[in-house]
Formats: sequence, structure tokens, C-alpha cells
Amino acid sequence: MKKKYFITFIFISVIVLIMIVISYLYISYIQKLTDENTLKNLGELTKQDAVKIKNQIIQHKKILENIVNQVEKQDKITEKEIFNLYNENIANQEFSRLGIMYENGKTITSDNKEIDLSEDIDKFFNEDTLQISKSRKSKIDEEEINIYSKKTRINGKNIVILLVLETEKYEEIFAESIYNGKGYEYIINSSGEIIANSAKRENGYNLFNIIQTLKDNYNSKKLEEMKKQIKEYKNGQVKFNVSNKYYYTSYNYLNVNDWFLVILTPGSIVSQEYNRVLKITFVTSIIINIVILITAIYIIFSNKKKKEKLYKLAYIDNLTGLGNNNYFIERGTELLETQNTRCYLIIIDFDKFKAFNKKYGREEGDLLLKAFSQKLKNVFGENQIITRLTNDIFSILIKEDSKNINKKKAQIVISEKSTENKFREIEDVLENICNELSNITIDKIEYKILISMGIYEIKGSEKDIYETIDKALLAHSMAKGNYNKKFYIFNEDLENKMIKEHDIESIMEEGIQNKEFKIFYQPKFNSKTEKIEGAEALVRWERNEKLIPPNEFIPIFEKNKFIIKLDKYIFEEVCKDIKEWKYKYNRKIKISVNISKEHLLEKNFLEDYCKIANKYELKPNDLEIEITESAAIDENFDIIEILNKMKNLGFSIAIDDFGTGYSSLNMLQNMPIDVIKIDKSFINQSKMLETIMIIVRKMNLQTVAEGVETLEQVLRLRDLGVDLLQGYYFSKPVDKLSFEKYFKN
Ligand code: C2E
Ligand code: CA
Ligand code: CA
Repeated sequence: MKKKYFITFIFISVIVLIMIVISYLYISYIQKLTDENTLKNLGELTKQDAVKIKNQIIQHKKILENIVNQVEKQDKITEKEIFNLYNENIANQEFSRLGIMYENGKTITSDNKEIDLSEDIDKFFNEDTLQISKSRKSKIDEEEINIYSKKTRINGKNIVILLVLETEKYEEIFAESIYNGKGYEYIINSSGEIIANSAKRENGYNLFNIIQTLKDNYNSKKLEEMKKQIKEYKNGQVKFNVSNKYYYTSYNYLNVNDWFLVILTPGSIVSQEYNRVLKITFVTSIIINIVILITAIYIIFSNKKKKEKLYKLAYIDNLTGLGNNNYFIERGTELLETQNTRCYLIIIDFDKFKAFNKKYGREEGDLLLKAFSQKLKNVFGENQIITRLTNDIFSILIKEDSKNINKKKAQIVISEKSTENKFREIEDVLENICNELSNITIDKIEYKILISMGIYEIKGSEKDIYETIDKALLAHSMAKGNYNKKFYIFNEDLENKMIKEHDIESIMEEGIQNKEFKIFYQPKFNSKTEKIEGAEALVRWERNEKLIPPNEFIPIFEKNKFIIKLDKYIFEEVCKDIKEWKYKYNRKIKISVNISKEHLLEKNFLEDYCKIANKYELKPNDLEIEITESAAIDENFDIIEILNKMKNLGFSIAIDDFGTGYSSLNMLQNMPIDVIKIDKSFINQSKMLETIMIIVRKMNLQTVAEGVETLEQVLRLRDLGVDLLQGYYFSKPVDKLSFEKYFKN
């Protein structure tokens, strides 16, 4: 279970991770694309502006060339004439002024100023070609200016003609508003010195130094790249990176001096579009992730629910909420596999649950099962493996480590006492448990129920749950239907007994077919005349030349109901014999046959017996039926009705083993019986015999004493007025042939 959740968890994590990686790659891709596009566009823009500036400078140069040309054409020319030339040429007022500089530095300007530029003599006089100066402060009006200069001669003197341009004029050419005024445009020279800038700041600072302040390895490298390219007069674009902010930079050579046009723009402006795409991507990926997560959780949850449902179907008993058969097998196997110490397996069921259902109704039966389940939990504790196997059969698997089971009510203490002590202790505990479980309260009404319990002590080495169930069931089957002992603990003897039972069961049918069941007759004598007056038919099983006594197979046959078949068989054999004797010796003798209690539960058995008697030309009156006293007082059937029917059909009825069943006088008085057979256990108890005789005489019944073994007993019974005597003193039960001697004599 846990492993499955782990796998699912890993699966979801992997998917989410993949989504994150994809998102990251996508974002990186978009970033790269944006970078490329931005740099390309910026490069384009720079190129355009560079062309504009270049054209402008060419224009300026042409104006100066023109003036110089005209000056050189004249042999003699005055300063005023030169200024006139200038004024004519500069119709558009582009320039601030024209200056004429002499070799001593004295300079006269078109706006009638005279200044001293002696410190710049070298700069202006050493070059023959047209020069454009860096930005500098005007000595006249403090404005920032650039000076176009060209050396020439007038009136035999060397002069330099200076054309003064406000640096601002370049800045006016810069894209009116680069990226909404948030970008920067510079003209710099190859060492980074700023010639002109769009931000209307003072020039002369070094752009490279400014960039250098974006301290970072990456940026330094990029800057070096840019510097190198600029040194080589190459155009290019570069992206600087400052803590999540970008600066896109593009540079373009102006073909003037070592001047470059540089446009620098913060990434935030460019990346608005990119950010939007990014945001959409981010949100989408989050939504997708959430959807995946929710779907996965839903799937897991519904799977879990489904599993729980299936689990309930497969393992839980609907009615009681306890585990079912499957649950027991699974948990039991688990426990045996992991536990190396002793456990106890208990199997419990109700005696006569069917009868309870019939009497109180099915619903009440269900309530009983529920209440009983709760009681099991109370008695054994919730953490034992308590299950309902089927119908009214419950099983409890008790772990050894649960040292005691509900101290107050019942407990199984596993101690190191001697086995006998331990055994007795456990017996006591089980007795308590039985009593506790036998009183069930449903809706405040208390029910007394009988339960049967089989216990098996599982040793640590046992691993097969089925085998342990078999053994507990075996012990349980011993308790089943036994009114005296409600629980059995499995032991080897029980098992052997069971095996024997099984052996007997496997050959019983064969026994009837092979006529292995033989009838022995034990005669009954008149206590006064000492003459034979009847006999009891007693079954023997003759198998492989050995006689099996009835107490070894009759209890088994009573349990499995085979006794019904056997009794009927015996009855028919007896009828056969009586008929035979009738013809052979012309004598009829009353034979009593035993019938089991199980028989009385059968419908129509009396009709069958009548038919059999008729078949052998006998009247029911020729036969006596022995019913034990305990059967006569069983509440499971209406004995009076059966006895009346029997009586009406003409059978003679004897109550066998009288005195052992504790029947009340009242009960006996209502029964249409003929004979009382006093149980052999009272043969020496004179007081008891006297009491019995008082009752019997009142009811006017015939009496038979069984188990008569001595003359003394014979005499006493005769004096007490017992009618018939049966016992070893006269004869043991004998086979048919031996019995026939009584007819001959
Ligand atoms: P039961 O009906 O009480 O039979 C009397 C038992 O007492 C017989 O045992 C008999 O052999 C024994 N017995 C007779 N005289 C003496 C005596 O002087 N001393 C002692 N100690 N015992 C004496 P058996 O034949 O072993 O039968 C045992 C029981 O098996 C019977 O008890 C009866 O309940 C049952 N049984 C026998 N045959 C049948 C049968 O055909 N059908 C049914 N349903 N039960 C039978
Ligand atoms: Ca009997
Ligand atoms: Ca008897």
C-alpha cells in the first residue's frame, strides 16, 4: 500500500519537475530570442542614427572646406571678409561662430570676440587636414562645443579657421526619444570618452568606466569584448547583466575621428513584450502543474476509495463489521509468518442458532450476532484478530504478546508455570470466558446462549494457518453438542479420537451392507418366578472377527445421525427374528429395542416402524421401545405428542436409564408410558430405589432393573417389588443362536 503511494508520489514529482524544466527551458529560449531580436533592432537603430550623424558631420565639413576654399582663392583677404563668407554660408544658424586663429594663439571670432587659445596651438596647427575636436567648454559662453578646424594661409600668414558647433547639435540628431526616453545614446571615442550624450549631461566622462561599475565577471568580459571591437573599428552589440536587469548596448563607428555612436538601453523597456510572454508562460505552467496535481490527487483519492470499497467487500463482514474469512486467513498467515512465539486460536459458535432464529426471528438473530461480536471485542480486546468466519462461527487469534485479555473479565496469562498449573489456569480462564460470552444483552433484554469453543495453542514454529484452523475446529467439534463441557483445548488424544471417529464414519455404511451389525439379546427375568419374560436387543459391530462395543460407535452415529439408519436396521432384524421364532418355536417373546434421541426428531419414523412390523406379521404390541430419560425431557421436540402417537399405534414404551435425567414427577405423569427401567447406577442405593418404587407404584408402571449382577441384588429388588430383572447375574447379552436356548428349554 505504502509502496504504491510512494511510487505515485515519485511519479507526480517527476512530472512536476519535467514541467519546471520545460518551463525553464522555454523561458530561457524566449529570453534568448528576445535578446537576439532586441540587439538586432538596437543595431539597426544605431546604424540609422550613425548615418544621420555622419551625414551631418559631412555637411559640416563641407561648409568649412567651402569657406577655406574661398579664402584660399583670394590673394588678400581681411578678417571681415572671411566672417562675411561665413555669414553667407551659415544661413541656418547651425554653428555658433567662426574663428580665425593666429599662430600666437590669438583668435578672433565672427561675433567680435577675441580670445586666447595659445594652449591649443599644437592641436590646431600641427594637422593639415580638417579636424573635429572633442567636446570642450567654450571660452566665450561656457557652452559645450566641438570645433571643426582647418589650417590655411592668408596674407602670407598661417592661420586656422575654426567652425564652432554646440555639442547639443549632435544630441539633437539622436533619436528624439529612444525607447520612450529611457534609453541612452552617446558619441564616444575609442577610449570611451563621451563626446555627446542624449541625457543632456556634461560630456567628457568615460563610458567604459561607467560600465565598469556594473561589477561582475560576466560584464567585465563583455566590456573587454566591446572595447576590443571598438579599437578595431568594428560595429557590434552586447548585453550587460546587472542582477536580473539587462542593459542592451549597440555601437557603430561614425567614420569621424575614432568616434562611435553607442546606444544603451535598459532591458526592462525592451522586455515588456518578453515579460508578458514570460508571465503567460509562467502562469500557464503553474496552471498545468496544478491541474496535473489535482488530477493526480483525484485519481489517488478515488483509487483509495475504490480500494477501500473493494477491501470492505473482500475482507469485512457486512453485518458485524468484523473481519471475514478472507481477512482471517490473510491476517492469520501474516501473524504466523512474523510471530515466532505462541498464539491462541479460538473458534466459537452458538449451539442451536437456527432454533434461536426460528424462535425470535431473523432480525433478532442478526442483533444477537452483532451483540456477540461486540462482546468478543470487549472480552478479547480490539487488537486481537477477531473475525466472523460464516453464519454464527467466530474465530479469534490471540497474539502471545497481549499478555492479558481484559483483566476484569477473562484473561489468558502466559506464564512459565508447570504445564499442569498452566493448563488449570487456562481452563479457569476459558470457563470465565464461556460464562461471560453466554450472557448477551439485546435492547436491555438478556439472552442466555450456549456456546461451543475450540481452542488451539499455536506453537511459534507453525506457519500454516489452515492446519491451525483444522485443529481448533477439531477441538470445537468436540465441544459441539456437548452439554457438560463447553470448550475443548486441542491435544493429540483428541486428534486420535477424531481420526478414529473418521475411520468409523468411513466404514459405517459398509457395515450395514455387509451385515456386520449383529444383535445380541439380553433376557429379562420375572423377579418372582425367575422365568424369562422378555429381552433387550443390543447392537454389536462385528468387524474382522472382532466385536466393537456400542459405546465406541453409537456416540459417533448419534452425532452424524447415522444412528437413525442403524436403529431402523436393528428394528427390522429384530422383527425378522421374532417372526422366525414364532414359526420355529411357536412362541412370542417381547423384545425391547433402543431408539436414539435423534430419531425422535425425525418425522414419520413411527409410520416406518409400523410398516416394518406389519411386514413381519407383527403387531406393535409385540415390541417395546426404549427411550432414555434424557431424551424424554429434551425440549427440542414435543415428546408428549410423539409418545401419544406411539401409544396409539400400540407400541409399548419404556423409559431407559431412569433416575439419571432428573425428570420431574409432573412430567412423568403426563407421559403415556408402560415401563420404567431403573438405571444400573442405582442398583445398590436402597433409599433411591425405594423412592423410585413409590413413584412407579403410584403411576402403575411395570419396572425393570438393569445391571443386576449378584444374588443379593436379586433378592433386594424382588423385595422392593421390581417386576423384571436384567443383568449379568442371569445372562450377558448373547447372540441370536445362544439366545434361542431359552425357547428350547
Ligand atoms: P442401555 O440401553 O442402557 O443398555 C444396557 C447396557 O448395560 C448394555 O450395554 C448391556 O450390555 C449393559 N449391561 C447389562 N447387564 C449388565 C450388568 O450386569 N452389568 C453391567 N456393568 N452392564 C450390564 P451395551 O450393550 O454395551 O450398550 C450400551 C448402550 O448402547 C446401551 O445402553 C444403549 O444406550 C446403547 N445401545 C445398544 N444397542 C443400541 C441400539 O441398537 N440402538 C441404540 N440407539 N442404542 C443402543
Ligand atoms: Ca436400553
Ligand atoms: Ca439402560
